[in-house]
Order: sequence, then structure tokens, then C-alpha cells
Amino acid sequence: GFKCGIVGLPNVGKSTLFNALTETQAAQAANYPFCTIEPNVGQVAVPDPRLDQLAAISKSAKVIHTQLSFVDIAGLVKGASAGEGLGNQFLGNIREVDAIVHVLRCFEDDDIQHVANKVDPLADAEVVETELMLSDLESLEKRVDNAKRRATAGDKEAKALASVLGQALELLRDGKPARLTQPNGDDEERLFEQAQLLTAKPVLYVCNVGEGDAATGNDLSAKVFEKAAAEGAQAVVVSAAIESEIVAMAPEDRAEFLAELGLEESGLARVIRAGYELLGLKTFFTVGPKEARAWTFHDGARAPQAAGEIHTDFERGFIRAETIAFNDYITLGGESGAREAGKLRQEGKDYVVQDGDVMMFKFNV
Ligand code: GDP
Repeated sequence: GFKCGIVGLPNVGKSTLFNALTETQAAQAANYPFCTIEPNVGQVAVPDPRLDQLAAISKSAKVIHTQLSFVDIAGLVKGASAGEGLGNQFLGNIREVDAIVHVLRCFEDDDIQHVANKVDPLADAEVVETELMLSDLESLEKRVDNAKRRATAGDKEAKALASVLGQALELLRDGKPARLTQPNGDDEERLFEQAQLLTAKPVLYVCNVGEGDAATGNDLSAKVFEKAAAEGAQAVVVSAAIESEIVAMAPEDRAEFLAELGLEESGLARVIRAGYELLGLKTFFTVGPKEARAWTFHDGARAPQAAGEIHTDFERGFIRAETIAFNDYITLGGESGAREAGKLRQEGKDYVVQDGDVMMFKFNV
């Protein structure tokens, strides 16, 4: 499955956020399968109101959400890239995740010490990012030299590698993340992905604001949003303190509490969804009397790959997919209505699956 790594300086609210994320799941019992793989890894259901609508129409007994993993990656210290003990481990943990959720302290609280004695999310972000950039820089310098040498000797793959990693190296020397690299063609794209650079991973900034600012954000979070926009990253406003209060409440009391704060949904739901989008993940559904279930696929996937999310046999023996767009399914009152209206499509192996598709796969065993 896909993993989002939660990073940030000490005392910014990472653990509070992570615990709230995993506790919601535990509290929601049967319908939200939750499991802790390791103490610092939690699998979290991706909230999707469409699933409840589908389940209502087809009278499904169960609703099963698709999931995303979050990893609490503690232990960043200045100098991590210099490779001392915990720092090394920190960078290694980041290498293993697909996206970075970077928590930034945007709340004032005299009782909670800030590592630099000043609440300044942009400066904090820079400390973390500098470590990641230094680590990438160091690994790239060797790799680019090596690729250039092999390219001179006539190695075609090395030429593409030298070109794409050389571009990343220039960006990093300029103080910019490798994320801004523009690979030239499919080969460079593949090689760039394989290089697994830390600063190439997509980033979501989570602005942890005080309770009073949860609905509106504040001046500090506004600055983070500007930064995110400038560098092709995403940002959300959350109050980790509120989120940990919400998860401690009975589910039926939550909506009222959120409404009093001027919030439509919990900040956690927004973090999870933003993480999902950041990874380029989309959802298709399978719907029946037993269960309505959401499945994750990668944007651009074709029908057989989507089928493979359910079972490898479905992919191997794929014949076709009967597909109904979400809106058609809802407005036509379900499968038979959609079929009568000619909105149940027979799609083959080249069909590019769309977000919200309700699918049934035909396959050979
Ligand atoms: P971590 O070191 O980044 O994992 O930070 P923690 O989640 O352990 O939080 C550090 C301290 O800040 C704890 O005492 C939290 O209760 C507190 N804290 C976290 N989020 C908030 C918040 O939104 N508002 C306030 N006032 N305190 C918070």
C-alpha cells in the first residue's frame, strides 16, 4: 500500500496528529478496519461520502473504505544529513515513504517549548528541507559523476541518467527541491523515479494552528500556503489539539462540535484526502448486497490493473469490465436503472478507469 510519512521538528504536533489519525480508526470499529503494523505505522480509512450513497441505494450490508498508511517519522535533528546515528535512520525512513506530510507549528503556546524559541513555520520548514536537500545533493554528486563517465564511454542509459540527475543536481545547488525536475521523455522519467530522491517526493504541509484558528487559519498558515503554491506542494490547516478532542468524543457528538467551530468536517479527513490526492490516487467502487467497497488505483490505470487491485487472477484472466459512472449510478437509482438507461458500459482492456467508476469484472479463471 501507499505510505505518507509524517515529519517535522520536535514539539510541532506530529504525534498528536498521528495518534488522532489512528485513534479515529480504532474508535470507528467494524466498518473501519484498522490495524497497527508497527507502533509508528497506522492504516487509515480514506473518508469518502460517495461510498455511503452507493451502499444506501444497493442496500449493502457493509461499507468498506480504501486505506492509506501513515508513518510517524520522529527524530529529525539538525545535521541529520551528516549521517550521525538517528539522523541516518530518519532519512532512511523518509526514503521508504511515497509522500511527505510535513507538520509545521503555527500555534502560539508559551507552555510548549519551541526548539528554536520562536514560532516561525517557514524557518522550521527550511531546517527540515535543508537536511533533505543536503542528503540528495551528496548522493547526486557521486551518481552524476559516475553516469557522466559511463555516458562518455557510449552508454545510452547513462546518458539519460546524467541528463536527468544533472538537472536535479543544478536545482539542488540552487537551493530548490528535486521535485521541480522536468524529465525529458519516458526513459528519463523512469530513471528519475528510480533515483528515489528525498526532495522529489510530493509534500503536504500541515499547518497546526491554535483552536481559535481552526476554521480560518492565521497569518502564519497563510505564509505556508504561499510557500506551498510557489513550489508545487499542497497545504491544509488543522488544529491537532481539536482533532485529539474530536476522536475522544462519541461519534454522534462530533458533527455538532465541528459545526460550533465553523468546520464542515474534521481536519483529519482533509489531511487523509489531501495525502491521497498528493499521491495521484483515485477510487473505483464495487457494489453489491454484501458490501459497498472502495478500491485505490493509480491515476491513468487501465481496467485490468484496476481489477488486479482486487485479485491478481482478475488481472491475469481479465475479459471485460461492466462500468457505471458514479453519477449515473446515483441518479438512475442503481445498477438495473443504469442498465435500462444504457449507462452500463462494456469496457475492454484499454479502458482508462475514471475516479468514481462502479465496476464489475468478467474474467477467466
Ligand atoms: P511532536 O514532537 O511533533 O510529535 O509533538 P507532540 O504531538 O508530542 O506535541 C508537542 C506538544 O505540543 C504536546 O504537549 C501537545 O499537546 C502540544 N500540541 C500539539 N498540537 C497542539 C495544538 O494545536 N495546540 C496547542 N496549544 N498545543 C499543541
